[in-house]
Amino acid sequence: QPNTIGILKTPNDPRVCLLPKEVKRLTGELKLNILFEPGLGSSLQIDDAEYLQAGAISKSRESIFKNSDTIVSINHTFSEVEMKGGCCFIGIFNPLFHDSKLAIYQKNSATVYSLDLLPRTTLAQSMDVLSSMASLAGYRAVIKAAEVYNGVFPMFTTAAGTLTPVKILVLGAGVAGLQAIATARRLGAVVEAFDVRKSAGEEVRSLGATFIEVEGYTESANAGGYAVEQSEEYQKKQKELIHNHILTANIVISTANIPGRKAPLLIETRSVEAMQPGSVIIDLAAEQGGNCELSKNKEIINHNEVTILGHSSLSAEIPAAASKLLSNNYFSFIKYKQKAEDQPDDPLLTASQIMKEGQWTHPHFTKQLQ
Ligand code: NAD
Repeated sequence: QPNTIGILKTPNDPRVCLLPKEVKRLTGELKLNILFEPGLGSSLQIDDAEYLQAGAISKSRESIFKNSDTIVSINHTFSEVEMKGGCCFIGIFNPLFHDSKLAIYQKNSATVYSLDLLPRTTLAQSMDVLSSMASLAGYRAVIKAAEVYNGVFPMFTTAAGTLTPVKILVLGAGVAGLQAIATARRLGAVVEAFDVRKSAGEEVRSLGATFIEVEGYTESANAGGYAVEQSEEYQKKQKELIHNHILTANIVISTANIPGRKAPLLIETRSVEAMQPGSVIIDLAAEQGGNCELSKNKEIINHNEVTILGHSSLSAEIPAAASKLLSNNYFSFIKYKQKAEDQPDDPLLTASQIMKEGQWTHPHFTKQLQ
């Protein structure tokens, strides 16, 4: 009996997790039954007919819940009333931050996989939704900053005078930060970047930006390449250095995160108040509490003539591009899961599983129970 997968629309998010091209591979290559909600691709001008041609069947939301073994969506979009016991959910649930939203899955004996928990290894690269979305968010952050900022990015030498290039400071040089640097450099900006990880320095410099360093960072071999929280002394030194660089920046793009923790506070109110009027801050860590003391997720704030835009899912503003990448990520995961499901210790499935049939399996939650 082939598995039935239901694809849901995500209210308030124009991104779609599976496009007709990948649905065709699911029904053909993987021989899965696919149900989809009418209008699934309407935010991307994709007709239901394209999903039907790919072999999927159009069903109401209610019927999808009733008839699917697995439900895929971008994030949490379900109410308890809708859920059927024992179903499997695949999405980007940000469970370490939104743990309060997990109770309904538990009550319904659900099995839940969250793609944002996949390790950042070569094996998981094709399913790495964090990298896909971070890369687009970094690009979009620069485009947004360019729109809001009242100056120009490159140097202009004209008969009427010279306009100096914009100065941009990027905080956090991971996937989003590096894409922001590359985009800003292409537009002619002068870019500085800071990251606690020394290894980011080489990548920053290779993109033509200056790397700002604070001495004394302690790396952790167990952190899988991610940043770890630092000593108070280091944080103090870092704050001072960043403060001094913020003063001379016209635009700050902050992307610094520590998985499962509140985002590090890097831009204090005093720094914002010392910036030039007209400066712009884009805070991509806003959902995790923000890198800027004043930012609020999905809000634009004006503080002392500095515009602060907090947004952690800017990729949703370019939904066609985002959906193309997501669709490949989701397809790769479903294909991988189908093959590896029988192996109890598979590294990717173990890492991305939050719970199995209502029982916590992810160490973050099983530890809390001890
Ligand atoms: P992230 O979103 O967790 O954080 C963004 C950046 O913020 C990181 O570079 C981090 O070091 C930095 N940061 C954290 N605290 C900071 C602070 N106090 N001040 C300044 N910067 C701070 O990171 P990410 O973009 O998801 O990347 C995480 C790691 O995973 C990186 O090492 C990246 O190279 C690696 N990665 C590997 C693969 C792969 O396939 N092998 C794919 C993607 C990412």
